[in-house]
Amino acid sequence: MRKTDEQIYEIDARDYLPVFARYKIVLDHGEGVYVYDTQGKKYIDFLGGIAVNVLGHGYPALVNAVASQAKKMIHCSNLYYTQTQADAAAKLAARFGGGKVFFGNSGAEANEGAIKLARKYAHTISKDKSEIICAWHSFHGRTLATLTATGQPKYQEGFGPLPEGFSYVDFGDYDALEKMVSEKTCAVMLETIQGEGGVHVPPKDYFKKVRTLCNKYGALLILDEIQSGMGRTGKFFAYEHFNVKPDIVTLAKGLAGGVPIGAFIATNKVAVAFHAGDHGSTFGGNPLACAAANAVLDAMTPEFLENVEKMGEYFKERLLALQKKLPWFIKEVRGSGLILGMELTKEGRDVVNACLEEGAIINCTAGNVLRFVPPLIVTKSEIDEVMNVLERVLPRFA
Ligand SMILES: *Cc1c(COP(=O)(O)O)cnc(C)c1O
Repeated sequence: MRKTDEQIYEIDARDYLPVFARYKIVLDHGEGVYVYDTQGKKYIDFLGGIAVNVLGHGYPALVNAVASQAKKMIHCSNLYYTQTQADAAAKLAARFGGGKVFFGNSGAEANEGAIKLARKYAHTISKDKSEIICAWHSFHGRTLATLTATGQPKYQEGFGPLPEGFSYVDFGDYDALEKMVSEKTCAVMLETIQGEGGVHVPPKDYFKKVRTLCNKYGALLILDEIQSGMGRTGKFFAYEHFNVKPDIVTLAKGLAGGVPIGAFIATNKVAVAFHAGDHGSTFGGNPLACAAANAVLDAMTPEFLENVEKMGEYFKERLLALQKKLPWFIKEVRGSGLILGMELTKEGRDVVNACLEEGAIINCTAGNVLRFVPPLIVTKSEIDEVMNVLERVLPRFA
């Protein structure tokens, strides 16, 4: 029997752990960049399941890949080989330029695996080479190690004792990092573009200098591209914009277009630190998730990525034009490709709610940064549609 929205809210309040501050709508289905609630109201979705629905909803090649794999075999464990997993690994390794891939089921697991590999590798050099330097305002996940890597005390409070060996530095500040890195540094772990922290893009020469510093001390560079990777910036990996290559990169969110997956990719040099039994996952890289990942990876052609870049530029221009009209309210527009942030001079939650009312789903992060991470298939006219909503809503709060 179909439940009313009120019944669903009641069940959720009674039976679901209250860890999410949810918006009061019940979503039912989606099509392209649109989602529909149970009342039949249509929303243009510029949050895309938090940077997950890179191909939008109902993308035929993705839907068909998942449906036909589900019929064939959903799961078989990692005790056996599957072509689906081999294909997905080969596609990712090729994009990385060689190396070894490991599949988990989420971003946190991807980072957790990357941290474990980095520690194991560093311990082959020296047993006290274990410090991992992360950035303030970063976000790396919710497991104990990844929330410790997350440089935001609000995520850590109440969960101690936390794993040892993590320290923090301002993101984008090379001089501060230089003072902290030493022979004891196992890894420097950074998002290429900080997402949750408020869409922060570091200075153009930052990662090149960080790479050189890491090389000098034999520290690994781990880049978390769970949000910024998978074509979001118009390049497959966001680090390609900075002409560097990390030792380990982590992916998740958009990797299988909405089917749960996470992955880390390590260079061959680093990957040799892991042997059979050192790491694992029951579900990780199962045929269903890998079939979805294969469909997403196949969709990300050079033309696809070029379009992401073009749409990103167009969207940013439109946001900058709006900033010109409300300079006292809109402090800054920043980002790269289709990960864009608009920093307000006030809290953004009411703006997000008003947009929702007007049929546009956006999000606010770090309190006052409106964040736009739409499906990467978004078109110019869909960007115009969201801009129309923003142009109506923002002046009301300015
Ligand atoms: C979302 C996110 C994570 C965590 O991913 P989960 O799938 O929620 O565990 C880690 N790092 C970054 C940069 C993210 O955006």
